Amino acid sequence: MTPITLHNTKTRKKEVLEPIDPNNVRMYVCGPTVYDRAHIGNARPVIVFDTLFRLLRHVYGEDHVKYVRNFTDVDDKINARAAESGRSIREITDETTQWYLDDMAAVGALEPTHMPRATEYIAQMVAMGEDLIAKGHAYEAEGHVLFSVESYEDYGKLSGRSVDDMIAGARVEIAPYKRNPMDFVIWKPSDKDTPGWESPWGRGRPGWHIECSAMAHELLGTSFDIHGGGNDLMFPHHENEIAQSKCAGDDFANVWMHNEMLQVEGKKMSKSLGNFFTVRDLLDQGVPGEVIRFVFLSTHYRKPMDWTEKKREEAEKTLETWSLLTKGLEASDEIDDAFLSSLKNDLNTAGAIAAMHKMKAELRFNDLKAAMEFLSLTYDVDPASEEVFDWLYEGLNVRPLIEELVEEMSKARAIKDYDKSDLIRKAFMAANLSVSFDSDGGVTYKREEGFDPSKLEGLL
Ligand code: AMP
Ligand code: ZN
Repeated sequence: MTPITLHNTKTRKKEVLEPIDPNNVRMYVCGPTVYDRAHIGNARPVIVFDTLFRLLRHVYGEDHVKYVRNFTDVDDKINARAAESGRSIREITDETTQWYLDDMAAVGALEPTHMPRATEYIAQMVAMGEDLIAKGHAYEAEGHVLFSVESYEDYGKLSGRSVDDMIAGARVEIAPYKRNPMDFVIWKPSDKDTPGWESPWGRGRPGWHIECSAMAHELLGTSFDIHGGGNDLMFPHHENEIAQSKCAGDDFANVWMHNEMLQVEGKKMSKSLGNFFTVRDLLDQGVPGEVIRFVFLSTHYRKPMDWTEKKREEAEKTLETWSLLTKGLEASDEIDDAFLSSLKNDLNTAGAIAAMHKMKAELRFNDLKAAMEFLSLTYDVDPASEEVFDWLYEGLNVRPLIEELVEEMSKARAIKDYDKSDLIRKAFMAANLSVSFDSDGGVTYKREEGFDPSKLEGLL
């Protein structure tokens, strides 16, 4: 059996995945900060890691994979949104969380096993802060708790940066209470208008990074298999997660995976360029979620991806064709080898899609349907009318094949070779093709639901 290999950011190599416990394969992916609709770029990690989740479940069994994706529901952007809208924080985070779940379900993502909200794990974050102080990796200053970057020798290893580069390249906040400008916040004080929790350092709230360290520890244990997120999170977020967790005594994640960014029509997506849109915008325009998903899967997750109108159109046409071709057919029990091997090869979804095109060309529609179900790409289309028949089977040589068989059948009948005419008639039935001989000698045939031309092969 082909093993799963994954590109590990930490080693910069593709490695065979060897789960710590194959009965409990564990993955953590950084989730959204909930204050607004997910934009189209936010769907990329969701679709990438959902595909990996499905692959892991296929290989190790549905009950043997645990996937955690958090909701960051404490953040200054949320506070600002509440202040400007006059609504409560909880109202905003509840509403946005539900939007996110609905939009991600629409693009075919399964819900992770656990979806912890940061605010439900404050006690664990405080405990981790205290532990880091006790171990000399963090210090308290003016109501803040700061992680001391100098106390962790491997700081910067994940992204391969030196501390000097990091200082130069990052927007590090210089603050008088920091011993080193690179030190980052684990806890900060809250004034009376800002959400806060009691802590040994006074009323305050967590910095962003500590939540993932604390929740991964609580829900996945001291070590787990895969940690994922967009590569914009590699530094500082993931470096900081690693520093905190390692210094608290956890082994933390073995494999680090990062998806590349999404652009729109060749440009970075931004509100000022007018090319910013949300997943909901597309759904509202009538773009099926499966089409959105297909566009994402067409590009390997470690390559920058460009969302274009042209790709969307092509994806729509392909999926519509595949859906019509497989409508009413049973999916194969077995998953095609080339398809699965591509996915196992560092989640080569583009390769998997190439394997699906091949299944179509070889009239292996049951296999195609199984692959579509595997990737959550099936969607309901109206039955094909006879007018689209030729378009649908374009290049597949189906109509000439039927016509030849009909002629063979007529010939066999004429010479009373009923064995042969019966064989062809049964093949037509198996293929869900109704053929009728008119009294004037003409023949009409009609493709019925579940039409499967592969059943017509090998008869001539
Ligand atoms: P955020 O809510 O901004 O923290 O982002 C949530 C997730 O979306 C993170 O994993 C980000 O890396 C990812 N993300 C944000 N923008 C993009 C983008 N343009 N392309 C791909 N992933 C993105
Ligand atoms: Zn995180």
